[in-house]
Amino acid sequence: MSKRSAMSPNRRHPHAGGCQCGAVRFRVKLLGRPSICHCRMCQKAFGSFFGPLVTAHDATWTRGEPKWFQSSNLARRAFCGDCGTPLGYETRYGLELAIGAFDDPTVAAPVIQVNPRDKLPFFDGLTSLPLRENPDPEWLDFLAGIHSNQHPDHETQEWPPKEGEE
Ligand SMILES: [Zn+2]
Ligand SMILES: [Zn+2]
Repeated sequence: MSKRSAMSPNRRHPHAGGCQCGAVRFRVKLLGRPSICHCRMCQKAFGSFFGPLVTAHDATWTRGEPKWFQSSNLARRAFCGDCGTPLGYETRYGLELAIGAFDDPTVAAPVIQVNPRDKLPFFDGLTSLPLRENPDPEWLDFLAGIHSNQHPDHETQEWPPKEGEE
């Protein structure tokens, strides 16, 4: 099977991704170092406990453009102006993209933690939290009623889909 036909069913591209609503999509030719950043700015910008970021060489915005927030004199941060998904940040050294925004986040498994000074005190205990094994039936009913408006984890010719398509 050729590489092309292996990719064609879902028009998958290993280094593509985008925001939750699909208004902004990107592609990257080459990934650099994947990391998680504990700095307070990443916590705030991601609304999360850390920023998961990978250096992106030769990135292009393939649909729409992000909005930018100049978070400091040295960096600006990209996000979707429609749905607010954080997409990364840029300095004079280049662009870092949010790992969770990739169609396949496993392409960028973090290899280092940076800025440990701001690390949240409960971070190290997160992986030993108990897993909820048996959600109650009411919650399962709620989940069964979900119709997602999130862009799928592959390239699309057209988005959002026309009525009746997906
Ligand atoms: Zn969006
Ligand atoms: Zn940071």
